[in-house]
Amino acid sequence: MVVMRPHTYTPVSAGTPPEPTIVVGCTCGWRGTATADTNANPDPGFQDWLSNHFKPFLEAGGLRGIIAHNNISRLVEGFANAGHIHWMSNIRRTIALSWGWWSIINRTARAILVLSSVYQMREAVPLVRTVLEHTLYLEALQRHGETAVDAAVREHIRNVRNIVNTGQGGPVSSGSRADFEPLEVPDPIPDAAWTQQVSAICDRLGVTNSLYLLYRVLCGQTHPSLTTADQFIGDPDREDLGIRREPNFDQDSDFLFWTGVMLVWAGQAMNRLLTQPILVEELGLAEQELGVVPVEEVSTNANFGAMNVSKERIEQIMFGESGSPAAGS
Ligand SMILES: [Zn+2]
Repeated sequence: MVVMRPHTYTPVSAGTPPEPTIVVGCTCGWRGTATADTNANPDPGFQDWLSNHFKPFLEAGGLRGIIAHNNISRLVEGFANAGHIHWMSNIRRTIALSWGWWSIINRTARAILVLSSVYQMREAVPLVRTVLEHTLYLEALQRHGETAVDAAVREHIRNVRNIVNTGQGGPVSSGSRADFEPLEVPDPIPDAAWTQQVSAICDRLGVTNSLYLLYRVLCGQTHPSLTTADQFIGDPDREDLGIRREPNFDQDSDFLFWTGVMLVWAGQAMNRLLTQPILVEELGLAEQELGVVPVEEVSTNANFGAMNVSKERIEQIMFGESGSPAAGS
């Protein structure tokens, strides 16, 4: 669990004999010192940065975060550029619902990347929750089929009626009420009810101790709570509490990883509905690199999350296309 700041080596200042130390810098603010010995190593500062800063960052979760970031970028770009989708005419309603949810998943994932790039990953947590919820609903819809759409329609009407009833007598009730008055909530669809609740979907898929747990963690960081307030307090025992404006939050790589995993599941769920699969290459690469297993296997498959990245890919991340080290941007 690390913060995904860009890390680029920047030699700060070189020592001159007889003082052979050089100060080593990183774009993230890290500082180190190395002994200048140009005979043994043309750039000992770079070696110091690599061994004592960048490699530890990658090993602490940075590599997974960078790989997730790259795959999310590729997938949401693929979504934005994708052409037509093709489906069988008898699942028109299912497609309408799925397409909307899939679009929200992709656009929200892109928003998470944007927040991550300006060091506001904490503020992206509610968005990660949105991606998770929509992905779970999409999985449930794809598995259950047509009557899950009826369950969604019923839930929608029930919600609208609740909203109208809540506003009765208040300043925004007039006008809207008449519009919704004729809406009768249809009979419940008992066998499809599970598709309309996060806990029930996780229970049905056998992922309560993994994905439902994640959902609860995300909820805890979304609603007002001690957890959310505590991120801005450095030391409760100090008189000034150690108040801070930058949150104490270092789960960037974890939440980028989960966002990437959700995108894979959501894309695969869409493709099971379509007659011509889309983003096949992008989804395959993300699945392989992030170690994504089918959603029902998350709690039981030991290989889930086991990264599978080529040596060339790691080298490209460490040294960049141009040969200069850069990451996380
Ligand atoms: Zn750094």
